[in-house]
Amino acid sequence: MTDTAPQTPLMGDPSPEGRFGQFGGRFVPETLVPACQELEKAFRSAWGDPEFRAELHDLLTNYAGRPSPVTEAKRLGEELGYRVLLKREDLNHTGSHKINNVLGQALLAKRMGKTRLIAETGAGQHGVATATAAALFGMDCIVYMGEVDIKRQELNVFRMNLLGAEVVPAMSGSRTLKDAVNEAMRDWVAKVEDSYYCLGSAMGPHPYPWMVRTFHEVIGAEAREQCAALLDGGVPDVVTACVGGGSNAIGIFSGFADTDAELVGVEPAGGAAVGRKVPGVVHGSKSYLMQDEVGQVLEAESISAGLDYPGVGPEHAHLADIGRARYEPVTDAEVVEAFQLMSRTEGIIPALEPAHALAWMMRDREALAGKTVLLNLSGRGDKDVAQMMDVLRND
Ligand SMILES: *Cc1c(COP(=O)(O)O)cnc(C)c1O
Repeated sequence: MTDTAPQTPLMGDPSPEGRFGQFGGRFVPETLVPACQELEKAFRSAWGDPEFRAELHDLLTNYAGRPSPVTEAKRLGEELGYRVLLKREDLNHTGSHKINNVLGQALLAKRMGKTRLIAETGAGQHGVATATAAALFGMDCIVYMGEVDIKRQELNVFRMNLLGAEVVPAMSGSRTLKDAVNEAMRDWVAKVEDSYYCLGSAMGPHPYPWMVRTFHEVIGAEAREQCAALLDGGVPDVVTACVGGGSNAIGIFSGFADTDAELVGVEPAGGAAVGRKVPGVVHGSKSYLMQDEVGQVLEAESISAGLDYPGVGPEHAHLADIGRARYEPVTDAEVVEAFQLMSRTEGIIPALEPAHALAWMMRDREALAGKTVLLNLSGRGDKDVAQMMDVLRND
């Protein structure tokens, strides 16, 4: 693997080595290379097969409830002083965008003849989504979760158990998400004949960042059409989304990359991987990540466990590098304000993750005056209500 930066078309396929500009690639142990190659081949063949695409479309429509609407947020817009459109991924089955990716990967796993899904999870949301798809397809499901996260996310552990999945604690390192990723990869190598690793965001070794983006492109494609209907054939001035690993953001950005809409990703200040612009390799690909001076990966910290990750998907690093997207950090306090504002003005309790994007929209409201902003509302806030009750009552 070299560090040259081949030209890649904007939001097109990555290079044969899985590069987006200088980022991405496949930095994995020798033992994982054949599994990644098998997966890449299977994905290319499936995505080129109209039958696979039709079956996935049917699942997204009749199981997940797509298309999700675009809602004009009139009262929120009045409050902010500009026009606000919401892409309603919160209305999908299981309550977030994550279902788009897991249905795609589970269908691919079935096509590859695999009978067992492996997943890693931090807050538990990707674990729940994978367990959901496994139940739907009649597959075994094993979810690795840091021991610390298991204690913090009791309800999601119970949900996964209800759905028939086994939750295995990751006991190494900080016993959080990045350790769960390591355990999941170890399991995958050991049992690759019957097992499929269902990765939860647009990151990891090639082909995952590309494949996960592809499964989420439905968000951007729908939104482009829905916005055209609302805006006389036009596009919003700004498209914004929160960025953890980067999957919901890359999904909606993909629908507008070829327009002059400004693309803005919003990260928690305590996990601002793109903002810091420190390149490095983590979990199989080169990207920007949170690192100290000696190259040690730092723990991310955020009010939202779903954004609590030290790295970001490589395509975002590339978009930042070439200046096609920019990335803004917001603080927990700003997120708490945004969470309440959307609830009060729209009757929509947002997940804490997309409340990050709204927090940036609130802070930069003067610069946005008179514009039209499309916010990817990646999930609903039911899962965060108990935590917010603690936060707000202790104010
Ligand atoms: C998991 C999650 C995220 C963060 O993941 P990305 O891959 O960055 O999209 C964002 N929003 C919601 C609602 C989530 O559940």
